[in-house]
Amino acid sequence: MQYFSTNQQILPVDFRQAVIDGLAKDRGLFMPEEIPALPASFFQALPDLSLREIARNVAWLFIEKEIPGPVLGQIIEEALNFPIPLVSLEPNLHILELFHGPTLAFKDVGARFMSRIMAHFLKDTEKKVYVLVATSGDTGSAVAQGFYKVPGIEVIILYPSGKVSRVQEVQFSTLGHNVTSLEVDGTFDDCQRLVKTAFADATLREEMYLTSANSINFARLLPQSFYYFYAYAQLAGRVPNPEVVFSVPSGNYGNLTAGLLAEQTGLPVQSFLAASNANDTVPEYLTTRTFRPRPSVATLSNAMDVGDPSNFARMQCLFGHSWEGMQTRVSGYSFTDEQTQKAIREVWDKYGYLIDPHGAVGYLAATSYRQMHPATHAVILATAHPAKFSEAVALATGQIPPVPAQLETCLKREKVSVHMANDYGQLRAFLLRQQGVAV
Ligand SMILES: *Cc1c(COP(=O)(O)O)cnc(C)c1O
Repeated sequence: MQYFSTNQQILPVDFRQAVIDGLAKDRGLFMPEEIPALPASFFQALPDLSLREIARNVAWLFIEKEIPGPVLGQIIEEALNFPIPLVSLEPNLHILELFHGPTLAFKDVGARFMSRIMAHFLKDTEKKVYVLVATSGDTGSAVAQGFYKVPGIEVIILYPSGKVSRVQEVQFSTLGHNVTSLEVDGTFDDCQRLVKTAFADATLREEMYLTSANSINFARLLPQSFYYFYAYAQLAGRVPNPEVVFSVPSGNYGNLTAGLLAEQTGLPVQSFLAASNANDTVPEYLTTRTFRPRPSVATLSNAMDVGDPSNFARMQCLFGHSWEGMQTRVSGYSFTDEQTQKAIREVWDKYGYLIDPHGAVGYLAATSYRQMHPATHAVILATAHPAKFSEAVALATGQIPPVPAQLETCLKREKVSVHMANDYGQLRAFLLRQQGVAV
């Protein structure tokens, strides 16, 4: 399978190159040249397939022979080592719990898969590979946990000192082994600037192999399509040929794009709901035809605070740049923090279920859609565990979400981080020392 850049300024590359480059050299995003269809036999068997069986079938379409089958099987086995259950609130209202991984958010699926794919492609590289990431919280923990103890790879996380929550901080700063966290005296933007400067430093890159693990990598997107099939499979095991709508709490729109990809390989989906908070760039586009990227505003569902969603270019590609095309498949919704708080409360009162603020935005979109389509099965993608946002959940419901074991363990461990000034010279010297170069 060949991958082209959404900016169309480079020649297509194979899967391996698309994964290693992450972002195309023309700064576009990689997309498969064609979207193959899954065979009818796959859909007949679907209700009986496990998540890993689904993953092997779907991944194979896009990776083909670039990774030997047994190796791909092993990668899937290791990456998808936690359950993704479909929980029903009502006979036709369901929650897909994507938050049972090590960092309690759906980003674990993408990060765990991508890290192992990268490690496979880079295994014969003689130099150690350094994954350099700036984080405002969630991405750092998913990437750190994803690459944790993966051979040949060193992870270096830069984060703004005092500006991430304790829960987020312990998830990447207590790991040790091949994960180092640098606590920078500055903001998230400063961290990002430091990382970009390192990537642009040609002499540094002669000394060491640097790579990024940001969310635009196709190897993070692909595994997110697996669970759309798996949700359908779980539902089809209960009701034959269900009519399904997916409500997707969205920020950079990677998750929703993965759903569209699943649909284009043949998954029957009634519709997709783009559930957003006040950062409504995509819902606005869907009603006005105008794409107006802008700075983000802070909300309760902060992992969706994105004003210029990076995967929009991919969504456009999937619809051949047709607004009508996208508009018939995706409906946009935007909700305030006040509505989100009320929804958390409502889900608790009505169903005795604790939902996090991101999932609550998905619930609101699903509820709105269901008024017009009461017979359709609505599947809300719950992207984060309520314990990750326990303050907001406690404020809305009076309930403190139970802390899952994986978080409890981290909370007990000591933070180990290296304090650093907001200064590129210091970062550079640190990196070179890691590589064993005298500075
Ligand atoms: C990243 C994130 C989102 C947004 O996902 P996108 O793929 O960027 O749209 C939603 N919820 C949570 C909890 C997240 O961490």
